[in-house]
Amino acid sequence: MFILLLGAPGAGKGTQGTILAERLGLPKITTGDLLRAAVKAGTPLGRDAKPFMDKGQLVPDAVILGLIKDELAKPAAAQGAILDGFPRNAAQAEMVDRTLAERGNRLTHILLLEVADDELVRRIHSRAGIEGRSDDTPETIRTRLQVYQRDTAPLIAHYGQRGNVHRVPATGSIEEIATEIKRIVGR
Ligand code: AMP
Repeated sequence: MFILLLGAPGAGKGTQGTILAERLGLPKITTGDLLRAAVKAGTPLGRDAKPFMDKGQLVPDAVILGLIKDELAKPAAAQGAILDGFPRNAAQAEMVDRTLAERGNRLTHILLLEVADDELVRRIHSRAGIEGRSDDTPETIRTRLQVYQRDTAPLIAHYGQRGNVHRVPATGSIEEIATEIKRIVGR
């Protein structure tokens, strides 16, 4: 099972992804976490990514496509994975589709976590107080929401044609949303 969590920053992809990964015994691949770890460790990847992350822009595909390919190629992801935070644009979606197709897999479920914009901003602000992320400033939050609308939201139509996009109203409690996802995924 390869499950893609799609949704704007603050929609709860990380939280629901963790619950889902644990329940299904699948790895959760989170490009944001991988990038933040690379920045912290001061690797070349981290150095390339940081200026974009600090501005709330997407890290260029030249930097990110290799990372995605490597993560999907790991033995832990052979039987399935929860994809959190990628693909984020058309080129990444193509890379994911192709990498999975090469081994006879495909994205089995696309879960679109839907939350109204004002609630997203409220959630990111409250998370900023807890996690202290450098990209949770008001200006960067605005940019990230715009980038989502421009580059990532079109993926809904891209995947919608295949008929496996499931809209999840993501404004209830964490448990309610997890229950709805369980119903959709069937386990
Ligand atoms: P996130 O934790 O998913 O909100 O990601 C934080 C930041 O990391 C984003 O604003 C981007 O700068 C960068 N990032 C994370 N995932 C990707 C991705 N798949 N493609 C490009 N940039 C990404």
